[in-house]
Amino acid sequence: MNNKDKLPEFRVILERVVEDEEAYPTGDDTPHYEYQGRRTKLGGRPDWMQGNDFACPSCPHCGKDATFVAQIDSVEHDWDSNPHRIDSLSNEQKWMFGDVGMIYAFFCFDCLEPVAVFECG
Ligand SMILES: [Zn+2]
Repeated sequence: MNNKDKLPEFRVILERVVEDEEAYPTGDDTPHYEYQGRRTKLGGRPDWMQGNDFACPSCPHCGKDATFVAQIDSVEHDWDSNPHRIDSLSNEQKWMFGDVGMIYAFFCFDCLEPVAVFECG
């Protein structure tokens, strides 16, 4: 059994984001690395890391655009502002998708079909 078979468990506390706010700051005045590891969120729009040209996936059954549901960050990113950081040289990081990548989950509400995509940081 390799150490990726079961990830350490985190409790997720949901807090509705009010209109005109973001789950975390994404403006140009925020360094991109400041929130890495803490960008997990539900709903809104996906925060693509490789630019805005990455198209939302379509449903494999009906072909319509799937609805964005969630993004799951590399929770253990080794950065001072991240409370869940783990030393990147320790070989103890498990919540690390590639190089601080993100998993994006989508859903087709007509076909009840999930779709997930990944981007590397
Ligand atoms: Zn569909």
